[in-house]
Amino acid sequence: MNTMLQAYVPRAHEMAFREIERPVPSAGEVVIKVSRIGICGSDIHAFKGKHPIVSFPLTPGHEFSGYIEELGPEVEGWSKGDLVTVEPAIGCGTCPKCQVGLIGQCNTLQFIGGGLPGAGSPLFKVNQKQVVKFPQEVGPDDSAMTEPLAVAIHAVQKISDLNYKNVFIAGGGTIGLLVAQVSRLSGASRILISEKQDYRAQIARKLGLATVSPNPALEKEIIQFFGAVPKVTFECVGAEAPLNTCIHVVERGGYVIVAGVYEEPPKTDMVQVQDKEINLSGTLMYTFDDFRKAADWITKKKVTLSPLQTHHFPFRQWGEAYRFIESPQSDYLKVFIDMDEP
Ligand SMILES: [Zn+2]
Ligand SMILES: [Zn+2]
Repeated sequence: MNTMLQAYVPRAHEMAFREIERPVPSAGEVVIKVSRIGICGSDIHAFKGKHPIVSFPLTPGHEFSGYIEELGPEVEGWSKGDLVTVEPAIGCGTCPKCQVGLIGQCNTLQFIGGGLPGAGSPLFKVNQKQVVKFPQEVGPDDSAMTEPLAVAIHAVQKISDLNYKNVFIAGGGTIGLLVAQVSRLSGASRILISEKQDYRAQIARKLGLATVSPNPALEKEIIQFFGAVPKVTFECVGAEAPLNTCIHVVERGGYVIVAGVYEEPPKTDMVQVQDKEINLSGTLMYTFDDFRKAADWITKKKVTLSPLQTHHFPFRQWGEAYRFIESPQSDYLKVFIDMDEP
């Protein structure tokens, strides 16, 4: 068989499959037998046609793991069966941003599973430079979470020194819970997460994190919890109300780091940003060093990932997975597509 199925989104709210050629690796490329693909909040924004920088048709799949299947010419250091993940952001490699590793700021950034086809096919071809290897015992689920952990590591590194600082995180989704764990590893004093879904709050508490539920007295409750205003806040929802909560509770001269992806431009309380000399910073993706650090932390089990891995859908039920995620009744955190299950 010289063809295989590829999942793709032809237009908003539609998931389809098409036959494509099996990949043949060129010089420097490897073919990966894809095992797990994690569904990211940004995939859902894109599926709805609301991602600021993604257009159709689109083949998703930027958080994934698999096993090396085939080596192209001039490929070294890899063997068939190696467990790997792929760094999906590809900078031009030559601009001043790329030269210091800030690929997320490259003007001609390309992204696997965004503008470039993602891993939504049983076999996926990629340049070996993008590939990161794991010991087999790490397994396909944890290794597929390197990308979101790299996002969290990059976000936390926006604060040069987190030691003894109180951290408030808006949003207990995958990124919020990973930002919390990275903050804890980076020496944060106390950490509080606001999360409206009971299911996610329970997972946060399982990870030993304190939670609060958004309510009209939220800002007061956050300050009560810390006994002071927090120095650092992370907005990991991508919505106006949590962004302004961060701005309102943060200490004068403190930090609001924005990791959420917004479907609409929010009304931001710039009166307080200016008046309190708040350091308001966006964060996108990661450097390749962040990505390698994420892989290393996963290998060394510095972060706890299993409570976040809540659902698996087989390859051909990708559309059902999206519908499950989109349903307001659904409780979930990281949903995987199992590419090795037809
Ligand atoms: Zn992602
Ligand atoms: Zn560049």
